[in-house]
Amino acid sequence: MSRDAPKARGRARALLEIDLDAVVANWRILRDHARPAELAAVVKADAYGLGAEPVARALWEDGCRRLFVARLEEGLALRRLLPEAEILVLDGVGRGETEAFLAGRLVPVLNHPGELALWRQVAARVARRLPCALHVDTGMTRLGFTAAELEAAVADGMAELRPVLVMSHLACADEPDHPLNALQLERFRALARLLPEVPRSLAASSGIFLGRAYRFDLCRPGVALYGVNPTPREPNPMRPVVRLTAPILRVFTLREAATVGYGATYRAPAGARIATVPVGYADGLLRSLSGRGVARIAGIPVPYAGRVSMDLIGLDVSRVPEHLLAPGAEVELIGGPDGLDELARLAGTIAYELLTRLGRRFCRRYRRNGTGRP
Ligand SMILES: *Cc1c(COP(=O)(O)O)cnc(C)c1O
Repeated sequence: MSRDAPKARGRARALLEIDLDAVVANWRILRDHARPAELAAVVKADAYGLGAEPVARALWEDGCRRLFVARLEEGLALRRLLPEAEILVLDGVGRGETEAFLAGRLVPVLNHPGELALWRQVAARVARRLPCALHVDTGMTRLGFTAAELEAAVADGMAELRPVLVMSHLACADEPDHPLNALQLERFRALARLLPEVPRSLAASSGIFLGRAYRFDLCRPGVALYGVNPTPREPNPMRPVVRLTAPILRVFTLREAATVGYGATYRAPAGARIATVPVGYADGLLRSLSGRGVARIAGIPVPYAGRVSMDLIGLDVSRVPEHLLAPGAEVELIGGPDGLDELARLAGTIAYELLTRLGRRFCRRYRRNGTGRP
């Protein structure tokens, strides 16, 4: 792939480079930080848009044995790739899905008493203690057993099942001073005591950095693996994973003042230079970046000029020396240690959303073991 990459890229396609070595490096940073807790990896939503297959394969090769996905289909796809991994499905198991869970040897994260009853029935039918995880709600009010529901379930017994994890999820882990963190921690401790033999998990990416008390037996980061800063008020401890570049399609040097793009929202004076790149909101460069986003050419910041179109973005490149502006010259749209976080901020969103929306039209190149090969 690496040798053919320039050809595959074609004349006018944007290039999304995904550094799997950096994903693995981030996995090691988090693993070392979480110790003695074990580290799993969250690869839901196609590894946050970066490709669950290459990401999961690289992590497996580096020793990651437990992976979380959100949906059944994601779990089944991952099972085909990794026959021996423990794969947990955060959405839980629905009626009509039980056979697929069994066939895929997937571990459902049970979220309410109905699911528990269903999984117990299945276990009784196959006469085998089936693994499961139990999600308890501690203040997110999204998924998981309430305290009363868990007490009832424990009183009722679950001898048919083999719970491999009791877990909960923090709502404000990226805000270390938020009072809900300590409250969720306290509630989680109390609930997990009802299942004293079962390993516990509370922390995702940001929770790992809240201190030892939050790490329990297993941590389950997602976004930090992909280079996003899990400690937004501190320097980013993760290595950048994603770089998005695109070639310039054409450049205007304005002989008189003109407006740029739909709605004529950007007014450029005579003498200004406007470059157009083949990336737009259909590629996940959100329209809310209109008039706000910033790209770079040879390290020089170039602001988005006017509205983001479906397939194109205009850039005000007046500050860039002319010899760097030939058609085909490279523009960096996402890059650097805080590239994703910074662009997400400008778009009025979070890096999670930017990542998961990165489009399918890019030429994708994976870097692995120092090469361009996956
Ligand atoms: C998505 C998710 C994670 C991973 O969260 P990050 O903030 O991306 O690290 C962990 N646990 C649950 C329950 C999740 O839904």
